[in-house]
Amino acid sequence: MGKQVSSEEILGKLISIASITDTSNEEVVAAIATIAAPFARVRRLPNAGGEKTALLISIGPEDRPGIVLSAHTDVVAVAGQPWTSDPFRLAARDGRLYGRGTSDMKGFVACVLAALPAFAAADPQTPVHVALSYDEEIGCKGAGDLVAAIAALPARPLLCIVGEPTGMKVKRAHKGKTGWRATALGRTGHSALPHQAANAVTALARFTARLADLADELKTGAQDSAFDPPYATLHIGSLHGGGALNVVPDQAVMEFELRSIPGSDTAALFRRIEALAEEARAALRVQAPEADLLLEELSAYPALATAPDAPEAAAVARLTGDNGAPGTIAFGTEAGLYAQAGIPTLVCGPGDIARAHKADEWVGREELAQCDAMLARLADIIRHPAAEWIRSEPRGA
Ligand SMILES: [Zn+2]
Repeated sequence: MGKQVSSEEILGKLISIASITDTSNEEVVAAIATIAAPFARVRRLPNAGGEKTALLISIGPEDRPGIVLSAHTDVVAVAGQPWTSDPFRLAARDGRLYGRGTSDMKGFVACVLAALPAFAAADPQTPVHVALSYDEEIGCKGAGDLVAAIAALPARPLLCIVGEPTGMKVKRAHKGKTGWRATALGRTGHSALPHQAANAVTALARFTARLADLADELKTGAQDSAFDPPYATLHIGSLHGGGALNVVPDQAVMEFELRSIPGSDTAALFRRIEALAEEARAALRVQAPEADLLLEELSAYPALATAPDAPEAAAVARLTGDNGAPGTIAFGTEAGLYAQAGIPTLVCGPGDIARAHKADEWVGREELAQCDAMLARLADIIRHPAAEWIRSEPRGA
């Protein structure tokens, strides 16, 4: 067996590896696999290009229903941010641990890795599956293969905890999100002869204005008071096109996103958006038959909507000692993907999303200790079969 190390020590190691989204995650995956290998079965799930790998780390009998602990290994870039200390060297100041990814979400990963010896020693009847993805920060792109591998296990897990930063509070729901890029392709020409050209900027501006109208309409559409705002939002993030005033622009690009509330008819909204794009496309083609307006999906993840009174929410609350009602979060996670695969999922982890993606990101030593304590309770309870302790408190526990 490997030697026992603390979550803070492991966090130091993980922070020192700059696993920024868009770069290979091979180094951080290798470090994690080395820590896990003495205690667990480690499966590597490389992507098609081979430069990114997801890890599925399992302890316990796979033919029994288990629990998934989910996290991502990538972090956002630090360029242009005014950091007080090196973002890739864990720095302790006043009970806080600073470094890129401390809150989002290597703190949780470190606690889970530190708990592996205890999980293994428990000789569990509830197997534990640690699912570590890549590319989460650009729209949950790396979790698909992992979720499929977990859904294909001999026994489907009965619970998933996604350890995104919630201050160790139990969160049960978030909105779903889809991001798109719209590219208008027209025909260039002299600005004095616009009738012989097709203006891509005008076409895309019209489409953008229609989307803004739709965004206003959504404010009075389906409501869910668990969220702020309580309705779906449609947001335009960027709009670029044209070069010179005296030239009809033949290209313009816009990016937008839809954040939908759980249970709403997103397919119907997608059809509305496609119909608006078709209107703009048709208008462009009156000017130039070769013109087009392309819609490309950039990223998507489904909403999470675990019921407030779900036994799984109560089970996670018992593990954390959180007695409050499970809440909702404004940001998205991979939790919606696990829920979609039929695994009841909650979000709960150390740190605060408000500190993420910024200079001087930190996690509190106290927060890591709370997460360590939750995982110690988990290590104790997995001696019982999952169905026993998730659906009700086991006798004698
Ligand atoms: Zn995250």
